[in-house]
Amino acid sequence: MAKIFCVANQKGGVGKTTTSVNLSAGLAKLDQRVLLVDLDPQGNATMGAGINKAGLHASTYEVMLGESDVRTARQRSEAGRFDVLPSNRELAGAEVEMVELDRRESRLKDALAEVDGDYDFILVDCPPALSMLTLNGLCAAHGVIIPMQCEYYALEGLSDLVNTIKKVHANLNPELKIIGLLRVMFDPRMTLSQQVSAQLEQHFGDKVFKTIIPRNVRLAEAPSYGLPGVNFDPSSKGAQAYIAFGAEMVERIKHM
Ligand code: ADP
Ligand code: MG
Repeated sequence: MAKIFCVANQKGGVGKTTTSVNLSAGLAKLDQRVLLVDLDPQGNATMGAGINKAGLHASTYEVMLGESDVRTARQRSEAGRFDVLPSNRELAGAEVEMVELDRRESRLKDALAEVDGDYDFILVDCPPALSMLTLNGLCAAHGVIIPMQCEYYALEGLSDLVNTIKKVHANLNPELKIIGLLRVMFDPRMTLSQQVSAQLEQHFGDKVFKTIIPRNVRLAEAPSYGLPGVNFDPSSKGAQAYIAFGAEMVERIKHM
């Protein structure tokens, strides 16, 4: 039975996609069977995994509308050694089209149920909004991974996300919990980063992952080569951090 995790934060540019792609690749290196679901119409996770979002025979969009299924739509990231349920801008239309459908917040959950036995981890890269797409991610998941930068505004907006998660937990998905806050793009030379990081630990305790992802240019360069950073430059600090995060997640699910 797969454990399903959303990588979510309604802010853009906070490292959701980088985390989704590289955690997938990191887990694959640890011999975990992984499906990465691209739930963002921008299709960045799809491209970052080395799959051409322009040439999809089927995508998350068709799967959520019931016009295809996960087995048909999924593709292999050869470089990353994980599967991808790919997306492109078509998915933006799903928001509106799903309004008329039954169980519209459970479309993704229902679709993923068929491949539950094929994977150890299913990671969902959410779009930067608390939208119907993100709601589908949260309804499908056992837990949420929240990437955040250690900067002054990082905590702003976190309460909206936490409240949304609480509501989904209360009304739609009693299994859902926050697995942890992941510090990303971390620059240890910045006093502010250190201070915000310490505040996070004080306030959220063991809900803050031990692993810290450093700012590392190799992670930012990798997508333009169609490779996860973990595979593009495995010895880089960024790649090593995501592999360590993979190990932390493998340990976490033993106690779930
Ligand atoms: P989101 O999916 O939340 O919008 P991304 O993962 O696309 O965020 O990251 C935003 C930008 O920051 C991208 O250009 C990405 O390459 C870069 N980035 C993300 N994480 C790191 C990191 N640890 N080090 C350096 N650059 C990073
Ligand atoms: Mg993204």
